[in-house]
Amino acid sequence: MTRLLIRNGRVVDPSQGLDEGMDILLEDGCVAALGERLRAVKGTPVLDASDLVVAPGFIDLHCHLREPGAEHKETIASGLRAAAAGGYTAVCAMADSDPANDDPAVTRYVREMAEEVDGTRLYPIGAISKGRNGEAMAEIGEMVDEGAVAFSDADRPVSNALLLRRALEYALSFDVPIVSYPMDPDLADGGSMHEGAVSTRIGLRGLPAAAEEIVVARDILIAESVRGRLHLCHLSTGASLDLVRSAKQKGFEVSCDVAPHHFILTDEDVAASNYDPNWKTYPPLRSAAEVEGVLQAIYDGTVDAIASDHSPHHADEKELDFGDAPFGVIGLETTVGLAVDRLLHGKVIGISQLVRLLSTGPAEVLGLPGGSLREGEPADLTLLDLRKRWTVNPAKLLSKARNTPFAGRRLKGAPVATIVGGKVIWQSSR
Ligand SMILES: [Zn+2]
Repeated sequence: MTRLLIRNGRVVDPSQGLDEGMDILLEDGCVAALGERLRAVKGTPVLDASDLVVAPGFIDLHCHLREPGAEHKETIASGLRAAAAGGYTAVCAMADSDPANDDPAVTRYVREMAEEVDGTRLYPIGAISKGRNGEAMAEIGEMVDEGAVAFSDADRPVSNALLLRRALEYALSFDVPIVSYPMDPDLADGGSMHEGAVSTRIGLRGLPAAAEEIVVARDILIAESVRGRLHLCHLSTGASLDLVRSAKQKGFEVSCDVAPHHFILTDEDVAASNYDPNWKTYPPLRSAAEVEGVLQAIYDGTVDAIASDHSPHHADEKELDFGDAPFGVIGLETTVGLAVDRLLHGKVIGISQLVRLLSTGPAEVLGLPGGSLREGEPADLTLLDLRKRWTVNPAKLLSKARNTPFAGRRLKGAPVATIVGGKVIWQSSR
């Protein structure tokens, strides 16, 4: 029997309303006991968590691991190592591999490659449509059998409203959500940064906030009409979040996540970077007023989860002009530190809400195991040092990619250990 005793930690578990000093005993891959001064059988390894937060394992419900098809950007193995070092015990991989994850054989391949890594868990997200081309529905049921936990055409919106409605209806029979990528391609019109005063000033083609918001509105209306489970990813405007807030108030099963770059950076940072493509992402970095709208939605509980939207690209691709470079920034190894630094130390939310957004929330949105330290739950835990000061250094990241706008940023707060199934899969040198 494998055991681990975690001593003297500050246990923060929103699923039980817990925030107090305790020990946790892990046995055979599950949480066996919680309490003060727990006793374990002789020889049980002990991990001293004094001055650390002990939380249910963090779950990233949106990342791109690029395998199969673009292993020069990231592989499942390198992505999962980066995830472990970022404090994640589980991640969900988007379907935009090549071939796309639109077929149970690809779902199985992704799952089996992750099992070989034997670290952070991977839950595949299957494609809604075959080839992600928005026409014929993919084999959703067969992919669920192979472990897919949600469906999304990744970075392609489902333009056909009827297909989206059918997918929402069909997914209900498997109790999985449909994940919407909110972008209207016609309105986006080849834009590369947020449309506003800054894009006008520096002369880059703008991406209007409405390109995101009208798809959020449409998808919510369709989901409401069939009572489907809809999750909207990386929302970045106040109006998008107002729409989610009002759908929730009406009692519909609509959820959403936000990414750290959208609650920290603005379009002024794009200008200040001299249009560095490492600041190019979809949705684009918005105005300061939109960032305020995102922070408000985090504060009032409209947001269910923080996701990395880890989007690795090769350095050559990010050396193109801003307009031509691909969208996306990496985030697996910076999301937790950025969230602690900006949201907790910046006094937007408290520690319990922060852990909810990184663990309990994503588990609930996708119906995944974990997100809780109740006895009998999987022994997946993330240990945090809220006071640790560190600097984002791309050269030290375990991801294959380096496309981050946060290089050189000094942060307070970091994950220091990641435990999956009762086994320490990553630990920092404290
Ligand atoms: Zn994405």
